[in-house]
Amino acid sequence: MPRPILATIHIDSMKHNLALAKAKSPGAKAWGVLKANGYGHGLERAMRGFAEADGLALIEVDNAVKLRELGWKKPILLLEGFFSSADLHTMAGYELQAAVHCNEQLAWLEEAAPQLSARGIRFDLHLKMNTGMNRLGFTPEAYAAAHARLQAISCVGSVTLMTHFANADDVDHPLLPITEQIRRFELGAAGLPGQRSLSNSAGVLLHHDHLSNDWVRPGIMLYGGTPGGATAEAFGLQAAMTLSSEIIGVQDIAAGAVVGYGSRFQAEGPMRVGVVACGYADGYPRVAPLGTPVLVDGVRTRLVGRVSMDMLTVDLSDLPQARIGSKVVLWGQGLPIDEVAEAAGTIGYELMCALAPRVPVVEG
Ligand SMILES: *Cc1c(COP(=O)(O)O)cnc(C)c1O
Repeated sequence: MPRPILATIHIDSMKHNLALAKAKSPGAKAWGVLKANGYGHGLERAMRGFAEADGLALIEVDNAVKLRELGWKKPILLLEGFFSSADLHTMAGYELQAAVHCNEQLAWLEEAAPQLSARGIRFDLHLKMNTGMNRLGFTPEAYAAAHARLQAISCVGSVTLMTHFANADDVDHPLLPITEQIRRFELGAAGLPGQRSLSNSAGVLLHHDHLSNDWVRPGIMLYGGTPGGATAEAFGLQAAMTLSSEIIGVQDIAAGAVVGYGSRFQAEGPMRVGVVACGYADGYPRVAPLGTPVLVDGVRTRLVGRVSMDMLTVDLSDLPQARIGSKVVLWGQGLPIDEVAEAAGTIGYELMCALAPRVPVVEG
């Protein structure tokens, strides 16, 4: 029998979540964001889950090619742009769109333009504005000039105006509220033609009433995780990944006994401890502290002791029926990934993406 750990991917939940994103974005088209192996859910599975998206967006050039080989015919967008002039030939060969965020990329395009435009290549590009996040993009002041330079290149077709929000989940952020990013965007984009693409999941869920997008870029919400601001359930999202396993050992321990590496947990009274076949080598966060929620036979209990590579331990004191073979849910349906993430001091995004390759994946 295989080790009982399993990740179950719920394609129907992805479809439900995409429909919600589209309903929240009337008049806009939606990219389904599936970077990082579809946030850990599998590229091909996410492609099927987002079959109704208007396009797919990701970071990895090789996976963009793979999407074409898997039969995706609609647009594909490279969110981080191209990383060298050689990528332009891949983009041409597989009809990929890309973000443009720096002068080096403009120079690569200019250099390749005579050859590419002679072949009839016209790239649809997304000119990125840095509205305060200070990762990628042209400042609002430099934006119009970058736009003019890009538009003048012979192998360039359409240019979409794009920016990315730092705090769309925190309306009153004291240092960079979304209203300030929108103000800077409008300043830099004033008078420029082209479609607009601003919103990530938090933008879609929390700001749809005052943001105008031609294209939205939801990611985390499509997998049933919250981008912040409210719980996934309150947003009407459904978990797309359930990580489950089983109890593979039970220990009845006495008051004062200690559990696991570092003997970090000491029993206050006699208690039962269940050993679960799931550890940090499966993607469960080692930093998860005492009390992190775990479901055993559908009942909420708590993590005790340190998470080890292949196992973790849970409190079975209130679960007298639990035994070897009892079903355990680490996150997903019945236990929001965001709760586990919060206990571990991180976000659902990181847990999904970190699902380890050794975990078998099924659909259901
Ligand atoms: C990842 C990403 C998104 C999606 O963000 P979520 O918070 O997961 O919705 C949107 N736009 C860009 C540029 C991204 O890199």
